[in-house]
Amino acid sequence: MGRAGRRPRRHGRLTVAKPPKRDPKLGEATRLIRAGEASPQNLAAHTVSPPLQRASTVILPNAEALYDGKHQTYGRMGLAVHDALADALCELEGAAHVQLYSSGAAAVAGAMLSVLRAGDDLIAVDCVYAPTRRFMDQFLTRFGVTTRYVGARATADEIMAMATSATRLIVLESPGSLTFEMQDVPAIAKAASARGILTLIDNTWAAGLTFKPLAHGVDLSVQALTKYVCGHSDVFLGSCATNRQDLATKLKLGVRDTGWAVSPDDAYQGLRGLRTLATRMAAHGEAGLEVARWVEQQPEVARMLHPALPGFPDHELWKRDYTGACGLFSFVLMPAPEAATHAFLDALELFGLGFSWGGFESLAIHCDPQFKLGRTAVPWTPDGSVIRLHVGQESPADLIADLRRGFDAFNRASTAKLG
Ligand SMILES: *Cc1c(COP(=O)(O)O)cnc(C)c1O
Repeated sequence: MGRAGRRPRRHGRLTVAKPPKRDPKLGEATRLIRAGEASPQNLAAHTVSPPLQRASTVILPNAEALYDGKHQTYGRMGLAVHDALADALCELEGAAHVQLYSSGAAAVAGAMLSVLRAGDDLIAVDCVYAPTRRFMDQFLTRFGVTTRYVGARATADEIMAMATSATRLIVLESPGSLTFEMQDVPAIAKAASARGILTLIDNTWAAGLTFKPLAHGVDLSVQALTKYVCGHSDVFLGSCATNRQDLATKLKLGVRDTGWAVSPDDAYQGLRGLRTLATRMAAHGEAGLEVARWVEQQPEVARMLHPALPGFPDHELWKRDYTGACGLFSFVLMPAPEAATHAFLDALELFGLGFSWGGFESLAIHCDPQFKLGRTAVPWTPDGSVIRLHVGQESPADLIADLRRGFDAFNRASTAKLG
């Protein structure tokens, strides 16, 4: 029976276990399979973090337990580390229930699939994350669910004026993750609830920390944990939080029936990231603002798209509802040929060119190609190129010097093309 019953010998502080009992009657292949199995002794040490169980199979104590419905019978969900992460995210979101998903995109899709049925109508803001739009437009339509878009700054009244008896769900993303328009989330949630319509928000920008959607009446709060919660650009994970028991059950059945398991290793990394989320977010928010205030002063910049800057059109909403910012914002370059936008990005040495955000490192992209497919309610009318920055944990002075290099290259490319 493995290690059970082995009495340790003490040598000062060092404990040496007695060698395990061998059963020489068993073949070597059998002995190798039975040796070193998990035991209560293995798990007895009270470590800071929960034990990381990697498991598909769960061993049941007896025949009755196989089907009595009272036992954990399979590792697809509900292992120690899954439950620990979900509990910690309940704390973060102020939620009664959190459902885990294998990515942020899976969380968006999973939450929608769990509450929708054929014939339903969705209303979504125009600034939603591009893969979310693609999922609604291309995937959900095949199942008889239609989506209509409203402007990214639509009011509760404007949204409600579009609602019909078929409208099941309103999809918000505030601020939008390219151009940072905000919605009056509490007002929309209240109006939707009065009409029996569900609300879902993609809250990745706030990471569940600087804005609490459930406290403002939203039914489903989704985030890509991949970004700030995991925080190191090396894990995919997503979550959906709710305070409604009926929705929690639907989310759980949705994952059970689609088989979207979360790797215990990834869940462990998510929990690890969560421990330092508050301090990292504060640093990202502060450094982001320092860089943004400098960018705002540069002659190559037409305007800033950052909710925490006083000049931003939605700044008052941010001030009312949010306790902080993160490191993600955009700005509009002065009108120039596309080659100048590329020259700006290609001159950057510290900002990597990449689509994600929320990690310890700084990133930059230009957003213009995304607007062509992504704005259908209110077309994006470009005055200049939109550059999105993620400000990481490097020294802000170094990032500013890097951006200056970019602006210099932008100027050279602009004048070369004009001259
Ligand atoms: C990245 C992102 C997602 C998707 O998350 P993944 O884990 O990459 O699938 C969803 N919404 C927003 C706003 C994001 O930035």
